[in-house]
Amino acid sequence: MIEGKKILITGATGQVARPVAEALAKNNEVWCLGRFADVDAERELSDLGVRTWRWDMAGLAEDGLDGLADDFTHVMHSAAHRGDGIDFDASVEINAVGAGRLMTHCRRAEAFLYVSSGAVYAGQSPEHLVREDDPLGGQMPWLPTYPVSKIATEGAVRAFAVTLDLPTTIARLNVAYGPHSHGGMPILLFRRLLAGEPIEVPPRGQNLCSPIHTDDVVWQVPLLWKAATVPVQVINWAGDDAVGIQDMLTYMAELAGIEPRFASSEVYRATHAFDNTRRRALIGRCEVGWREGLRRTLRAHFPDLVKEAADAVQQ
Ligand code: NDP
Repeated sequence: MIEGKKILITGATGQVARPVAEALAKNNEVWCLGRFADVDAERELSDLGVRTWRWDMAGLAEDGLDGLADDFTHVMHSAAHRGDGIDFDASVEINAVGAGRLMTHCRRAEAFLYVSSGAVYAGQSPEHLVREDDPLGGQMPWLPTYPVSKIATEGAVRAFAVTLDLPTTIARLNVAYGPHSHGGMPILLFRRLLAGEPIEVPPRGQNLCSPIHTDDVVWQVPLLWKAATVPVQVINWAGDDAVGIQDMLTYMAELAGIEPRFASSEVYRATHAFDNTRRRALIGRCEVGWREGLRRTLRAHFPDLVKEAADAVQQ
């Protein structure tokens, strides 16, 4: 872990960046920028010594950064305007301009990390392990504006990294999960199972992903900064295991002692499993396996529900 640095984090009320802010605040000066509609999250961060600053990326009339210190050594830009799924212009504009303004303000930093997404990749056969140089052009029928806004923002980040000479990493995150916030996609789907809803799965084969526990996210952030370059370094950011969504849900259902229900459908939440060769070379292997990670995450979110069954099932 790094120490004695001045770190700016956006999206720190979210599932991914919050544990990073909490961990780094122990040995660094950490500032978190956001709207903080979740006032409890802001207070809890402040209690840990984190400084907070109101910043709304969507406030396009001005950058909202006037008066904020500009001597940050490291930046993690994790905020994302997910949008309404309809207004493509607004999604692209808010996210791309927000990234550009932040990079301009923090141009003196040693490293800038932009948290992108596996959603940028074009569809592949379900078993394909996606590499950083695979085709872009992701489609998400349930939030069509999201992939294009991530691709557009990657473009802005590439441009500002070069024009500002700011060492930058674009980390394309896979499915993140853990104890914070809503817990991530596996927990969101598990909540649907608990409510008795069947989960849509592809008619053939499994829908694979490479889930990463937020404990791994936390220790890898300083190494992603270390990997930053001009032009940008692009890295697939994922867990080491390629796992079927159906397998994950079946495992969690077993831990909770419920029967999972699946519905074969052409319309399902498509994900990708990643080829992690570049990340392993630059950063190393992950520490949390998917079964252990899901067990711990399920316990954090449903302590009463899973305790006995989880003790019985273990691996
Ligand atoms: P969340 O949806 O949990 O949180 C989103 C964050 O963005 C919040 O902290 C919110 O802060 C901030 N934000 C949203 N709109 C604005 C705005 N207009 N101005 C300033 N801040 C804003 O996100 P996650 O933690 O799940 O995701 C973090 C990043 O990782 C995102 O960039 C996402 O695209 C990417 N990602 C996440 C994955 C996952 O599995 N979770 C998978 C792949 C990529 P506040 O409300 O306080 O303003």
